[in-house]
Amino acid sequence: MDWIDLSTIKIKKVYRRLLFNRCFICYSKSPFPLCEHCQLGFQINSPSCQRCQIPLNATDLLCGQCQTSPPLYQECIAPYRFEGIMKNLIHRIKFQQENHFIRPITFLLSKHLIDFYSGKTWPEQVIYVPSHPDRIRERGFCQTQIMTTHLIQYINELSGDTLLSNSHSNQIRKNINTHAQHTLTKKERQKSPINTYEVIHPISQHVALFDDVMTTGSTINACCRLLQKHGAKKIDIWTLARTPDHENKLDNTPLN
Ligand SMILES: [Zn+2]
Ligand SMILES: [Zn+2]
Repeated sequence: MDWIDLSTIKIKKVYRRLLFNRCFICYSKSPFPLCEHCQLGFQINSPSCQRCQIPLNATDLLCGQCQTSPPLYQECIAPYRFEGIMKNLIHRIKFQQENHFIRPITFLLSKHLIDFYSGKTWPEQVIYVPSHPDRIRERGFCQTQIMTTHLIQYINELSGDTLLSNSHSNQIRKNINTHAQHTLTKKERQKSPINTYEVIHPISQHVALFDDVMTTGSTINACCRLLQKHGAKKIDIWTLARTPDHENKLDNTPLN
């Protein structure tokens, strides 16, 4: 890969959007990062479990897991399924460093969050599930950190209010570089130890926990246990996309 060419292509793409108000995907004129036509191409996550939002075949149901062992969080906002264009864009961000696609997908989630919190109280803190420093060095960036920054920016812009503030440092960090998730079975993923993550700043009572993709929920649950231990009373999960439960055969992609 010629890095000079790559960065030139990326700069051109970002400038095209910034200077000419164009959709990040199809480049048609649009006041938003995604035109209305492209917004319709994302697979909505419905029907899904009322609690954990795992895709189901019927509406108004709780999945088996939530019936026997409810998750530690109170709300889960997961408006899209990890398939089609959403999956493609997330892969391109993570594995081809096409960071400009972070804007359109975080824009989509911000619109859903504004609808969801209409008449409700917003969390006091937005915490993201961080990658391990070694993974950040390999990739060159932590995608959940950049996504959270854009998410907060869009929520404040679209609502015309400073509903959320962007803290300079995340409240948790990842200490153990766990195996790439796709190499683990569902059982192994669910054994994710609590000390994989560590709290480094005070935790508010009502927090949002953001991760780009939610699969079995084991990472989310490990983080929730930790946040509760450090004072969180209400945790809302924010995620761009939810995968179906494939038992032991999960998506062929490292998700963290
Ligand atoms: Zn478009
Ligand atoms: Zn469920």
